[in-house]
Amino acid sequence: MADECLFCKISAGEIPSEEVYSDENYYAFRDVNPAAPTHILVIPRQHISRVTDASETDRSLMGGLLLAANEVARREGLVEKGLRYVINTNDDGGQTVYHIHLHILGGRPMTWPPG
Ligand code: 5GP
Ligand code: ZN
Repeated sequence: MADECLFCKISAGEIPSEEVYSDENYYAFRDVNPAAPTHILVIPRQHISRVTDASETDRSLMGGLLLAANEVARREGLVEKGLRYVINTNDDGGQTVYHIHLHILGGRPMTWPPG
């Protein structure tokens, strides 16, 4: 756990969040400022700041992040109509919390290109 990391604290239960999925390696919770009717963040419990910092030793952790997201999407009933996965990365990518998180957005049609 990284000191002063908001999402490490949420993963550890030190800061409250609305849980939607939890296992040994991943945690998913509702975004406090939703950008869609369903907006969930899926994080690895292990602290990695940015997706571009992941390395070969994180191969299975990173693959598992997508599978955890798929499980959440199924539970939320998003799969049939569709959804969007987003990983904002670094300043130009709009990342504001530096602990990898995958956004699941759903419940309305998405537009393209994103802002
Ligand atoms: P980013 O901009 O880094 O891709 O996404 C960070 C997301 O975390 C934002 O959508 C923001 O609303 C959400 N967020 C920030 N602080 C909290 C918090 O304390 N609790 C929850 N549930 N979401 C948060
Ligand atoms: Zn962290």
